[in-house]
Amino acid sequence: MPRHSDRLVRLAAERRLFAAGPSGPLSVCLVYPNTYPVAMANLGFQAVLRLLAEDARVTCDRAFLPDGPRAGWPRTLRSFEHDRPVRDFDVVAFSLSFETDYIHVLDCLALAGVPLARAERGPDAPLVVAGGPATFLNPEPLAEFVDLFLIGEAEEMLGEFLDGATAEPFSRAAVLARAEDVEGAYRPDRWTPEYDGADDLVGFRHAGGKSRVARRYVADLDRWPTRSEVLSREAVFGDMYLVEASRGCEWGCRFCAAGFMYRPVRYRSPDVLRAGIAPGLDERRTIGLVGAEMASQPGIAALCQEIAMRGGRPSPSSLKADLITPALARALGAAGNRSVTVAPEAGSERMRRVINKNLTEAEILRAAEWLVGGGVDALKLYVMVGLPTETAADVDGIVDLTRKVRARLLDTGRARVGRILVSINPFVPKPWTPFQWEPMEDIPSLRRKLGHLRRALGAIPGVDVETESPREAYLQTLLSRGDRRVATVLARLHARPDAWWPTLKALRGGADGVDPDRFVHRGWRLDALLPWDFVDHAVDKRYLLAERRKAFAELQTPPCDTPTCHTCGAC
Ligand code: SF4
Repeated sequence: MPRHSDRLVRLAAERRLFAAGPSGPLSVCLVYPNTYPVAMANLGFQAVLRLLAEDARVTCDRAFLPDGPRAGWPRTLRSFEHDRPVRDFDVVAFSLSFETDYIHVLDCLALAGVPLARAERGPDAPLVVAGGPATFLNPEPLAEFVDLFLIGEAEEMLGEFLDGATAEPFSRAAVLARAEDVEGAYRPDRWTPEYDGADDLVGFRHAGGKSRVARRYVADLDRWPTRSEVLSREAVFGDMYLVEASRGCEWGCRFCAAGFMYRPVRYRSPDVLRAGIAPGLDERRTIGLVGAEMASQPGIAALCQEIAMRGGRPSPSSLKADLITPALARALGAAGNRSVTVAPEAGSERMRRVINKNLTEAEILRAAEWLVGGGVDALKLYVMVGLPTETAADVDGIVDLTRKVRARLLDTGRARVGRILVSINPFVPKPWTPFQWEPMEDIPSLRRKLGHLRRALGAIPGVDVETESPREAYLQTLLSRGDRRVATVLARLHARPDAWWPTLKALRGGADGVDPDRFVHRGWRLDALLPWDFVDHAVDKRYLLAERRKAFAELQTPPCDTPTCHTCGAC
């Protein structure tokens, strides 16, 4: 947390783009469990902030993880706008997009003086609520620390939760009891996991007889424009005005949680996007267009051209290479985009068939040529290692592909061709994907592959390499695929934040009763009950199994056709 004066400086430097409604009796502190610059770059956090701030029944404030090392943190977590102790709020609501922030949830609770374990909270403690994509994929690793999860997209359910939270009488117990009637609300104290002798999860018993918790979603995104609500130069994307264009993705890449958890894919209409962008151009030159895959967005080329014609710079978050058109490439180049991200995800055609990327090498090379020919200086290629069935030839395919992209760029005849950045990430198996049963590859093997790629790619002129650490991927897998027993691991990690890897390493093998390797390196039996199976994402598990079979047979699935298809169950 910044010092008092820093807080006021940050507040004064912010520009709020909506008018908060009158304040009401329910005090809610919306906490982003990471630092202020990271939090203020998050559109989900901003969207919920606006919903709460406009609700006349609520007085809303924000809080963040303090800046810098823990030794310099204040003694108490206080709110951002009104400098009020976070423990004094009625509701402390965490917005969680990334699993690695789970440790910071514990940091924030401890700093606020709120008991970490929900079972130890008395009637005067604030109600601890959590939501956001990380938790609706699998809330279980945090289930011992959170009183209530809101599973799904907040726009649909936050109002219903507030109906119950603002009704009389107000008490933790009464609000929790009323929340049980909200579809998508998950009270972990009402669910009991059951394990067999071998420690496998075999059941999930709900005290009231429920069998699943249905995630909520917004059917018509145009009803809820999601865009930057509070601008801060200090935010990670502080030079951008962000507009969410879509949720989900029609392509069904088998490793990608966003392609399954947000089904069916939904796009905002060009008119609504245009209306959102207009005020953005008054604030920032760069318009960040946010979506899992932006090249499929209806009207994307025209939208980018329009932004460029009005003096702005469109910056789409990620583009599927085969959908990039010359018009889109020219619009991006003409607007001064120095670098564009293309995500082949894998180097070889075979591996891309396994992951259902529906993308050929020829299409990648053509996109590179069009982008650079259109005026884009540099390319970022995003790839993974450790994918299921990967061979040495697939890993070398990343080097081959990069060489070919480089050669194609030189062929464009541009006097100056920018650099290629290859970003390499270890594969993390995610819940609710066809690869949810697969183990994460072991760390020494990933290290060898990454070392080989750093050397081979580093020898190509004009190519830079960045790699994510396999240890970070291990932590991410643990917190994505863990069950409730991971609570003890989280508590240990919270207690020794500067030694998270030695702490995890010491726990491997089950020294403390819970072996993190069970959740990271173990392949699940296909008939196993998975920790997140009680969340209903509308996608049939049999569909995920069928997609897994197709992956191993190297068969691709065409993209979603939402008006006619009912295959996975989401439409
Ligand atoms: S039902 Fe068909 S179109 Fe709809 S999300 Fe599933 S696969 Fe895609």
